[in-house]
Amino acid sequence: MADAPNTKFTRIPHPSPMNDTRREAILQDPGFGTSFTDHMVMAEYDADKGGWQNPTIGPREPISVDPACAVLHYAQEIFEGMKAYRHPDGTSALFRPEQNARRFNASARRMAMPEVPEALFLDAVKELVRTDRNWMPQVEGGSLYLRPFMFASEAFLGVRPARQYKFIVIASPVGGYFKKGAKAVSIWVSQDYVRAAQGGTGAAKTGGNYAASLVPQAKAIAKGHDQVVFLDAIERKWVEELGGMNLFFAFDDGSVVTPPLTGTILPGITRDSLLSLMRDEGLAVREEPYSIDQWRDDATSGRLVETMACGTAAVVTAVGEVAGRDGSFSIGSGGTGQLTAKLRAKLTGIQRGTEPDPHGWVVRLD
Ligand SMILES: *Cc1c(COP(=O)(O)O)cnc(C)c1O
Repeated sequence: MADAPNTKFTRIPHPSPMNDTRREAILQDPGFGTSFTDHMVMAEYDADKGGWQNPTIGPREPISVDPACAVLHYAQEIFEGMKAYRHPDGTSALFRPEQNARRFNASARRMAMPEVPEALFLDAVKELVRTDRNWMPQVEGGSLYLRPFMFASEAFLGVRPARQYKFIVIASPVGGYFKKGAKAVSIWVSQDYVRAAQGGTGAAKTGGNYAASLVPQAKAIAKGHDQVVFLDAIERKWVEELGGMNLFFAFDDGSVVTPPLTGTILPGITRDSLLSLMRDEGLAVREEPYSIDQWRDDATSGRLVETMACGTAAVVTAVGEVAGRDGSFSIGSGGTGQLTAKLRAKLTGIQRGTEPDPHGWVVRLD
């Protein structure tokens, strides 16, 4: 894929980038989402001035907004999560970034926000990775996490889609997502709270979905679990997804099931990539509803051998234990199963340039 940027960014040099010693110390143990690189990209949209303008890359710094700023009141906000990886030859690479650009615009349409031209989105991300390439962690499993987002910046308290927006990209050096590393996670079934309903915003990557997930997520943590799994809003029966990860169920006959994209589930790019990799492996993958009762029965009978949670942040993680009001059950040995380990190795290998890339997913930067 050609990647000569078409967007002309105004460059504002950072007056005091972080010194090498401090940056290197952070990169030794980056954590997740706690440290940020020196720069950010920003562009502004004004419906009355012909759309997107002023693409700028400059120091990452606080932005000031008017107290009547629309996002603070009506939550018109969307985001993406993607990573840049270092390849063995020292270059950086993105993984299916055009999918993030497209999903960003699908989210924008749902939230009555303007689309960001795909070229602007991709150029912004690439420009930031190139500018802050010295922030790429070298630690095992490390990467540069990229957070493109957009919010309504118009100062106006009437209820209608705003006429002004800001599109910003920031970057954060990250290690592994879960503190436990690649160990299996324990999951709490949310029976009192739902994440999304038909006709709602579940398929959009918008902050409000996360806001709605925080209470059940906090309850799951308080009960000693890592994550919460949501059921459908109507029957409270069909397994949907975690707060930020999609699910796959693998059976002893080599078949795999993942919940279908019916509008309440976020269409994960990791999910889509795993569907392809599983089909490459000759597995019979079906996108069909799977109930919580079936999940328990299949885990208990041994028909279900693995459950995988997947997303950009944690890649592919085994679900070892599931607990809810009606008791708990474990899956397989309670650890990371063979298929999970194999797919995780395959996908991270493609992303990091140590495995062939048969689907042309990797976009290399110089
Ligand atoms: C971002 C996200 C995912 C995972 O999507 P990826 O593209 O694989 O990172 C899954 N569920 C929710 C709710 C999300 O916000």
